[in-house]
Amino acid sequence: MIDVKGLQKNYGGLQVLKGVDLTINKGDCVVLVGPSGCGKSTFLRCLNRLEEPDGGHVIFNGKEVTDHDIDHVRQKMGMVFQHFNLFNNMSVIDNITLAPKLVHKETDEQAREHAMALLKTVGLAEKADVMPRSLSGGQKQRVAIARSLAMRPKVMLFDEATSALDPEMVGDVLEVIRELAEDGMTMVLVTHEMGFAREVATRVIFTDAGVIEEEGTPDEIFNHPKSERLKTFLSKVL
Ligand code: ADP
Ligand code: MG
Repeated sequence: MIDVKGLQKNYGGLQVLKGVDLTINKGDCVVLVGPSGCGKSTFLRCLNRLEEPDGGHVIFNGKEVTDHDIDHVRQKMGMVFQHFNLFNNMSVIDNITLAPKLVHKETDEQAREHAMALLKTVGLAEKADVMPRSLSGGQKQRVAIARSLAMRPKVMLFDEATSALDPEMVGDVLEVIRELAEDGMTMVLVTHEMGFAREVATRVIFTDAGVIEEEGTPDEIFNHPKSERLKTFLSKVL
């Protein structure tokens, strides 16, 4: 579904991605782990063109992302961030139906029906008509996930979606992400939740210093790490 070849990204003199190669197949749940500042967010942002790469290729559905219409790429690759960025002046349901109505020209009724189904899957059907300010952080993040899914993406990118949440909120959000994975959604996620990564990942990628240092199944990465850098990283996070 996504083929990344020799991806490079610099910020001024700083080389953040130094030639990353990665293939993401349909139904994969690829989890990126690595030290803070090693370029995980930059990598996700290059996939959906929130950043323009300085070198290499990102092929999405057989076509270079830079040759796709940028709006098409953003619609087909949903992204959920650490901070949920809901529209605070709109009810929960309006947050979710806005883009499908504007962009996909869905009718009120179609958009509302789909939104209600999504709210149900994230466990918030009863919150459809409330304003975001009355929600907890974990509930806001689940609405943000529903909003992203409303665009019927082919791939979901999650960048530390639970890092800003109080500990007791984390589980509900991870549960929603886990269900998406089980339903076969193609996903790339950055997380510090190693237990979760171990459970849901079809593949774990350890990045450090702008390259993929090691890649494997959760068992290979967490139980049988090879490189010294990965061993050091795991000794700090596990
Ligand atoms: P991670 O998500 O792994 O913590 P990031 O991809 O956010 O890492 O950042 C990688 C490096 O690039 C860091 O050193 C960060 O300071 C730098 N960086 C990220 N975004 C920018 C930017 N817009 N301008 C300049 N430097 C940036
Ligand atoms: Mg980051």
